[in-house]
Amino acid sequence: MLSGTAGDFIVPVALGKITMRKSDLPEKICAVCDRPFLWRKKWKTVWDEVRYCSDACRRNRSQNNLKKDKDAV
Ligand SMILES: [Zn+2]
Repeated sequence: MLSGTAGDFIVPVALGKITMRKSDLPEKICAVCDRPFLWRKKWKTVWDEVRYCSDACRRNRSQNNLKKDKDAV
């Protein structure tokens, strides 16, 4: 999804390593997968309520109570 508009914030992410420049974008930790995620345009009106990095995590939130041990993986 390439966009030439200056309003878009393009975040190049290399494997496991965030290589983006620091900016004013706020960041949160996903309540499900514990990974940090950045503010997105689509969240600008609901950012305070956003707790998950993706729809997949949002769907998984109910399963978070039954936290599996990942040591076996
Ligand atoms: Zn997540």
